Amino acid sequence: MIQLHVSDDILTGYAAGSLDEASNLFVASHLTLCPHCRLVASKAEALGGYLLDSLEETSVSPGMMASVLGHNTRSPASRPFASNVRQELPDPEMRARESILPAPIREYVGSDFDQLQWKRLAPKVHQITVPMKDTRAQARLLRFQSGITVPLHGHNGRELTLVLTGSLCDGDTTMRRGDVSETDEQTEHQPFAGPGEDCICLAVTDAPLRFKGLFARMLQPLFGI
Ligand code: ZN
Ligand code: ZN
Repeated sequence: MIQLHVSDDILTGYAAGSLDEASNLFVASHLTLCPHCRLVASKAEALGGYLLDSLEETSVSPGMMASVLGHNTRSPASRPFASNVRQELPDPEMRARESILPAPIREYVGSDFDQLQWKRLAPKVHQITVPMKDTRAQARLLRFQSGITVPLHGHNGRELTLVLTGSLCDGDTTMRRGDVSETDEQTEHQPFAGPGEDCICLAVTDAPLRFKGLFARMLQPLFGI
């Protein structure tokens, strides 16, 4: 059961088509796993279509967006919604290796999980940089062996993380498949991979991280994080 969702800000940006390519991939991937956010995003899309239709005739009150997101009972599909987002198959297919990566990610890196070209970033940490035309933000798959701690770091921008396998612990929070975190310039943290299987996550950043330790800072230019 997903506990941690994409913020309304980012979801409405997705519905309006105003996100960068990497953040768009991030939201589309979460939506394949999360019926809750699919519903919110479809309402935001319906609202966007409604606003465009009525822009010339109606004035819009400030609370309208929030009120429609919370209470809209109209049919959500006045416009086609995220045609590239497909719902994951239920068990037992769910755990098949091919479906570890949500369909939107597979479109970028290929669908054969065993053929993925992981590059070693540090002992027990591997990554795949997801190729993007839009360079405003970077997307990467990160794979942490269980128990591994990410070096303490801050952020120069926004960092979005979507857990796909295993678990990622950050302070008092444990994130599992489908859970997301959203951090900004104010956040400093040192997440670690929980026990059990490797933690694979999709991470999207729009600025370099700020590592605290000398060793991590020295390695940073080599890996472009
Ligand atoms: Zn969600
Ligand atoms: Zn971080």
